Amino acid sequence: MQASILAICYLIGSVSFIIGLKMLSHPATARRGNLVSTAGMGVAILGTLFLYQPGGTALHNIPWIVGAMIIGSIIGAVSARKVKMTAMPEMVSMFNGMGGLCAALISVVELGRIAQDHSDMHVLTILAGMVIGSVSFTGSMIAYGKLRGKIKDHAFRGQHLVNLLVLALIIVAGAIIICGDGSVPAVIFFSMLGLSVVYGILFVLPIGGADMPVVISLLNSFTGIATACAGFLYNNQVMLTGGILVGSAGAILTILMCKAMNRSLMNVLIGSFGNTGAASAHSTGEQGAYKEISLSDAAMVMGYAHKVMIVPGYGLAVAQAQHVCHDLGKLLQKNGVEVKYAIHPVAGRMPGHMNVLLAEADVSYDDLLELEPANEQFGSTDVVLILGANDVVNPAAQDDPSSPIYGMPILEVGKAKLVIVNKRSMRPGYAGIENGLFFKPNTSMVFGDAKTVLQELVNLVKEL
Ligand code: NDP
Repeated sequence: MQASILAICYLIGSVSFIIGLKMLSHPATARRGNLVSTAGMGVAILGTLFLYQPGGTALHNIPWIVGAMIIGSIIGAVSARKVKMTAMPEMVSMFNGMGGLCAALISVVELGRIAQDHSDMHVLTILAGMVIGSVSFTGSMIAYGKLRGKIKDHAFRGQHLVNLLVLALIIVAGAIIICGDGSVPAVIFFSMLGLSVVYGILFVLPIGGADMPVVISLLNSFTGIATACAGFLYNNQVMLTGGILVGSAGAILTILMCKAMNRSLMNVLIGSFGNTGAASAHSTGEQGAYKEISLSDAAMVMGYAHKVMIVPGYGLAVAQAQHVCHDLGKLLQKNGVEVKYAIHPVAGRMPGHMNVLLAEADVSYDDLLELEPANEQFGSTDVVLILGANDVVNPAAQDDPSSPIYGMPILEVGKAKLVIVNKRSMRPGYAGIENGLFFKPNTSMVFGDAKTVLQELVNLVKEL
């Protein structure tokens, strides 16, 4: 009876994950989707605590489990409340790494439990969970450091060979265990663990430029797969479903990100090796002089334009200027100007970053344009206002085959009559490369923090 109720709890959990995931696909239902999945997870956890009976006896360590859950929940809730919107990607990386670490630890702990009574399938699952979870953990920690700007890209000559060697050693060690006499030698197991930890570091360390979104979603997928392995090990359906959903969603996102960057996954993973000098080489390029436009002139040309396209980027999130950005958009619309927002899929620092940012300021979804429709409309646009975006509008992605971002689709803002770029300086964006757009004849710069600049523009447009 108890087992049947537990199975129903797990079914409720699994179905709620699927419904929640579906609801996450639209900003209007995303919050509710999150709550639905959380509630389903709650049912599954309660069911496990009170109904799960390994070996026919109830769990005897509930106070430990509940204590750990309370501590974890407090840390999670406080850090999620405190985190700045711009630091969300780092937090996602950190949480993802913790998931990988959990999956790896489950494998380490379960190794002892199954030592006497195991099938090859169980050992394989334990090894897979340990390797994938460890790679995901250390890879995510390196990604966290990179997103925080604490860790720089590092590569050495022949690194891909070293990586392949480490990977080969992991596979050979796994094969020795599987094909052995049925025992799992601790030396080999822990050597595999050490090599996996090292592989996670070596694998993410050289990847840089603008390729981090792909790596982050790939690591996310790894954590899902490692969790699914743990679910298989415990014959826990909800863990299995959750892991498979994260694993497949991460894999799909990785493919979409690769498409958004017009790169193959192999090119992202292997192509980056030895590229670390590229950024500085490009950032020193002489591109000529740039023009500046005064705020009053910028307000004038936008206020009397037929069509204005706003391009948000990471800097808008840094400045937390989404609300005042929407104020400017509404004001222009009130004055009869057609206003649209062009969203690049990798703008900001996480997938969907700009959608989330603008949704926070209640910008209508109807006013958002994805990359392709936006590119079709730039030709008929009078003014493009770029707010803290850089790499996603860099024409080097189309014109310069030696550029690290060559091939990445960009917002082709240069087709508009006038491009106004707001940023604080001439410093490069995330990829570390100079942007030729700033030196084009139809581009003018407005320097300053996006929030201050937008507030000034709002005041000036009101006076028109
Ligand atoms: P970029 O990082 O290319 O550029 C952001 C620009 O914003 C900078 O040039 C900076 O210039 C400016 N800026 C920073 N703070 C402010 C401020 N307060 N006010 C005004 N401007 C400001 O951003 P994009 O959005 O164009 O491109 C995203 C990049 O991040 C891509 O390379 C992408 O691959 C990468 N990435 C994306 C992820 C994702 O999932 N979306 C994840 C990880 C990386 P200045 O300092 O002069 O002000």
